[in-house]
Amino acid sequence: MKPYTGKILWVNLTDGSFHEEALPDSFYEHFLAGMGLAAAILYRRIPPGADPLGPDNILGFVPGLLTGTPSLFTGRWTAVGKSPLTGAWGDANCGGTFAPAIKQCGYDGIFIRGISPKPVYLSITHHSVEICDAAHLWGLDAIATEQRLWAEASQPKKPSVACIGPAGENRSLIAGICHDQGRLAARAGLGTVMGSKNLKAVALAGTRRTGCARPDEMKALSSQCNRYAQLDIPAMPASFPRLLGAAMRKLPFAIRMDGMLIMALFRKWGTASLNQGSVEWGDSPIKNWAGSDRDFPARQSDAINPDRVLAYEQRKYHCYACPLGCGGICSFEGMETHKPEYETTLAFSGMILSTDLKAVFAINEKLNRAGMDSISAGNTVAFAIEAYEKGLLTPEMTGGLELKWGDAQAVDALLDRMIARDGIGDLLADGVKRAAQRLGNGAENLAVHAGGQEIAFHDPRQDPGFGLHSSVEPSPGKHTTGAFVYYDTFKLWRKIPGLPKPPLISSKDGRYHSDPLKTAKAVATSNFTQLYNAAGLCLFGTYLGVERLPLFEWLNAATGWNRTPAEYLEIGRRIQTLRQMFNIRQGVDPRKMRLSPRAIGLPPLQRGANRGRSVELDGMIHDYWDAIGWHPETGIPTPETIAALDLHDEDIVSRYG
Ligand code: SF4
Repeated sequence: MKPYTGKILWVNLTDGSFHEEALPDSFYEHFLAGMGLAAAILYRRIPPGADPLGPDNILGFVPGLLTGTPSLFTGRWTAVGKSPLTGAWGDANCGGTFAPAIKQCGYDGIFIRGISPKPVYLSITHHSVEICDAAHLWGLDAIATEQRLWAEASQPKKPSVACIGPAGENRSLIAGICHDQGRLAARAGLGTVMGSKNLKAVALAGTRRTGCARPDEMKALSSQCNRYAQLDIPAMPASFPRLLGAAMRKLPFAIRMDGMLIMALFRKWGTASLNQGSVEWGDSPIKNWAGSDRDFPARQSDAINPDRVLAYEQRKYHCYACPLGCGGICSFEGMETHKPEYETTLAFSGMILSTDLKAVFAINEKLNRAGMDSISAGNTVAFAIEAYEKGLLTPEMTGGLELKWGDAQAVDALLDRMIARDGIGDLLADGVKRAAQRLGNGAENLAVHAGGQEIAFHDPRQDPGFGLHSSVEPSPGKHTTGAFVYYDTFKLWRKIPGLPKPPLISSKDGRYHSDPLKTAKAVATSNFTQLYNAAGLCLFGTYLGVERLPLFEWLNAATGWNRTPAEYLEIGRRIQTLRQMFNIRQGVDPRKMRLSPRAIGLPPLQRGANRGRSVELDGMIHDYWDAIGWHPETGIPTPETIAALDLHDEDIVSRYG
């Protein structure tokens, strides 16, 4: 029994046709599934120069190779396509139940091209594909859309639904794809791609089971892993993460992080555990990346204390096959809503200097229903407030809406306009880069992004790895693709000979320029990230470290292969390189993906935890490109690398077919 189905589904919305494509075993041996499968399919099938919102762009949905097997943390799915926000490779990852649902329909991926002449949704089971009229769904918010499709379902099984809300329908370039009542595949504007295809939703209700080669071995591995995932720190007070953050800031040296501590925090509070500690130690950007905890001090961040968030939680939320359950279903003003994640909370507290936690809950629900990326939206409203403060935006331009720091109600109203593309909202609905271009007069200096995508709220002036990975990643601006702290938690050196073991204690000042250790860490992090994205794992599961998270062993037990961890990591490098080749083929210049100066301390902050820090990003980018096997000046994969990874400029699917 194999853990993959051996086929993908193609749907052409222009003519309403669909067909299956078989993929041979050798394809999976080279690319696994998930991100690897998507890279191999999209690389050649999207023509160079394709309009991201045109019929030639392909929107894909992929689960991982391990999804559906007796592994853990494998409930993540990825939406892929050419990003309309950056013009480059786009991917957006989400949890919930959609990943196993794709496999239960019998596919390792669903790929959609063309544009429907009218709004439609896809209804798919393991024996049928239907393109259905969505006139009655168009205009509904994402949560209402999902509920309507559940109510209308004729199959005995409740469908798993991914859909867009008004933001995607209105072609906001920061629209995501919503699932499970408020989980978002938020990044890269892929909800906009879905909207451009007049595709409102994809509803899956198959019942096919996933196989694996050695199920007993997999179960034993998972049982051991589950014991680690359940480890707890009893009676941990809500002040603990803040005090930890304060201690990390005050210590004269940096300490290598152990992911087990993060797991324990996430088990109790989810990502809300970062809300205050991150402000303390300088991980959270403040006031549109130009402020510090002097503007948003600890006593103010107490408004977002993780226990205050947890007070609303009714029950834990687990993605499929997740033993941790970092999510939460909350009761807020008479309705059920997902617990706001750290990113959303900081977007609408520290970034805009607001202490209104209720506004965070309300905005979180608003953006989930609209299907709008809260990271991009949070950056954009903070940019707008600063632009208003500096006179680049005027009351005439905002329609009389006064934008000022700390006014969450004005931000709420501004978001309504962005979702509807109403007035000033039309200028802001496509993110900070385009808004700054339209405003001119130096507005670009206030706009923080990498290659056009707003970055998440983890400050490169605290961990420069966030700045490096945001800048070298083929899908730029994503915090989930790497940071120096991630390498520490992965503990790859324990299983892969030759990878460096970081010292337990290191100099804080040494973090800001390139050196061989940082370069080796960054490349290994990228390759491992692509590997677990191909397997379908959650980033948070990797915090266990590879000694406790048996990713390599699961892959061998699922497939029946007998590969070494180093061989698997090389598959990760193949996927990362192929995604970069996608960008080169599309005419994207990797040098244009560099993160905005403000976020790397150019000029440096004068106050706060990151005072005086500047990241020597160009040297880090140069050395990363060189070490991964791309040209150190241009970021283009070298012919030697392409040959060594058995990648060639041809239709990769037919090559391995
Ligand atoms: S750790 Fe959180 S995000 Fe990751 S799979 Fe579990 S519930 Fe989902």
